[in-house]
Amino acid sequence: MTDVVIIGAGISGLSCGHFISKKTNNFLILESKDKLGGIIQTNIEKNYICEYGPNTVLLNNEATKQIISDCNLFERIIYPSINNAKNRFVFNNNKITKIPLTPIEFIKTSLLSINSKFKLFFEFLVPRHKKNDTVFNFISKRFGKEFHDKLVVPFITGIYAGNTKRMSAKHSLKNLWNYEQKYGSITKGIIQNLLRKKSQPKSFNFPNGLSELTLKIGENLKKSIRFNSNVSKIKKTEKGYEISLENEEKIYCKKLITTVPSYVLMNLIDDSTLINELKKIKYNPIDVFHFGLDKKNIKNKYKGFGVLTKPEDKKKYLGILFNSDIFNHVSPTNKNLYTVLVGGENQKKLCKKNIMELQDIISEEIKSLFGYKGEIDFIKNYRWKNGIPQYTMDQEELISAVRGFELKNNNFFITGNYFNGVSVSDCIQKSYDIVKKYF
Ligand SMILES: Cc1cc2nc3c(=O)[nH]c(=O)nc-3n(C[C@H](O)[C@H](O)[C@H](O)COP(=O)(O)OP(=O)(O)OC[C@H]3O[C@@H](n4cnc5c(N)ncnc54)[C@H](O)[C@@H]3O)c2cc1C
Repeated sequence: MTDVVIIGAGISGLSCGHFISKKTNNFLILESKDKLGGIIQTNIEKNYICEYGPNTVLLNNEATKQIISDCNLFERIIYPSINNAKNRFVFNNNKITKIPLTPIEFIKTSLLSINSKFKLFFEFLVPRHKKNDTVFNFISKRFGKEFHDKLVVPFITGIYAGNTKRMSAKHSLKNLWNYEQKYGSITKGIIQNLLRKKSQPKSFNFPNGLSELTLKIGENLKKSIRFNSNVSKIKKTEKGYEISLENEEKIYCKKLITTVPSYVLMNLIDDSTLINELKKIKYNPIDVFHFGLDKKNIKNKYKGFGVLTKPEDKKKYLGILFNSDIFNHVSPTNKNLYTVLVGGENQKKLCKKNIMELQDIISEEIKSLFGYKGEIDFIKNYRWKNGIPQYTMDQEELISAVRGFELKNNNFFITGNYFNGVSVSDCIQKSYDIVKKYF
C-alpha cells in the first residue's frame, strides 16, 4: 500500500510532492495528462518565450521561497524591468492612461474626478465592514463607484476575469479586506505596511519561463509521478482509500491529497454536501494569444507592464501584457512580444467563436492599438475552457464544506486554486501548510 497519493501534477500537486518527499519516499503523484505543470505551460518557439498560463509569480510567502531555494533556482530568478513594470495602463475615454500608483500621481491623474480623489483621501472615515460583501459594494462604499469602475474593475479583470457584483471581497481582495478589518481603513493599512516593510514582494519569472520551476520539481520527483493516470473514483476503505483509474486499475493508499479542479473532484467523491458546493464554482474561459511584432513597424510605442480593460471600453480583450518590456529576453531583439487575454465573465461569447476567427479579430485590435503596419511575425493561441475559478459569495460555505468533509474522511486533504487563493504562490503555500500540519 502506498503511504500517500497526490492527485494532479499542477503546481499544487507538485508542491505537495516536493514537501512530502522530505518526509517519505512512499508517495505517488497521479496525473491524467502526459505532462506536468497543469496551468503553468511555457512554449518556446522562434526565440519567443510564451506563457499560456501565468506570466509572473509573486515572491510573497515563505513556501514559494523555500521551493525555489530547494530547486536551486534562486539564481535563475529574473525580475521585471523596474521602470516599465511601474507603468500599468487602463483606457480612459479610449485613450491609454497610466494607473496612478503614488499619492502625487493620484492627485494629478485625469482618470478620477475631484470628488473621487476627495473620497480616496478620506477613506479612513468610512466604518469597517461587519460582514463580508461583494467586491462592488466593498470598494464603492470605501472609495466610491468611479474608483471601482475605472480602477478596480480592470484590476479584477486582470486577475480573475470576473464580475465584481458577484465576487467576495473577503476572498478575492484578501489583503485589502484584512487591512480594512485590522486598521479600519485600506489606506491606513497600506501606509502601515509600507512603513513596516523595507520592500514590497516582487513578481518574477525564469529565463526559460515558469515551466522551469515545474520541470525542476518534476525532475526531482520523477520516480514518484505517474502520467496518463486519470483518476475516476475515490472510495474510503478500512485502512485508507481506494483510487480507481480510468483504465480500471486500483491503487490503495493511507493518505490522500487532491489538487484537481472542483469540476473534476465533484465526480470523484460521494459526499453530497461537498458536491453541492463544488457545483456552484464557476470557471471563466480564457483565450490567450501571443503576438510577435516587428519593432520598426510599431507606431504607438507604449512602454510598460500592460493595459487592462473594463466592459465600457468595448474592447475585445481583457488585457494585453507587454512581455518584451517586462522581460526583454522573451523575444528576438528586433521584435516585441505581446500576450492578449480574452474571455472572462463579460467576453464568454467571444470564447465560443472558432479560435482562428477570434485570432483574426484580435490581430486587427492589436494592429489598431499599436498603429502597426506590416506582417505579424509570430502568432500563437491557447484556449482554457475552464480558466479561472470565481471567488463568489459562496466561498465561506465552500470552505466549511471542505473542512467538514476532511473531518469525516480521515487523512483525505483537499487543496487547489478554487479556494483560499488562486495565485501560484498561494497554491504553493497551501500545499506547504497541509504537509507541515498533517504529514
Ligand atoms: C490564463 C491564466 C493566467 C494566469 N496568470 C497567473 C499569474 O500571472 N500569476 C499567478 O500567480 N497565477 C496566475 N494564474 C493562476 C494560476 O496559474 C493557477 O491558479 C495555478 O497554476 C493552479 O495550479 P493547480 O495545481 O492548483 O491546478 P492545475 O494547474 O489546474 O493542476 C491540476 C492538475 O490536475 C490534473 N488532473 C485533472 N483531473 C485529473 C484526474 N481526474 N486525475 C489525475 N489528474 C487530474 C490536471 O491535468 C492538472 O495537471 C493564471 C491562470 C490562468 C488560467
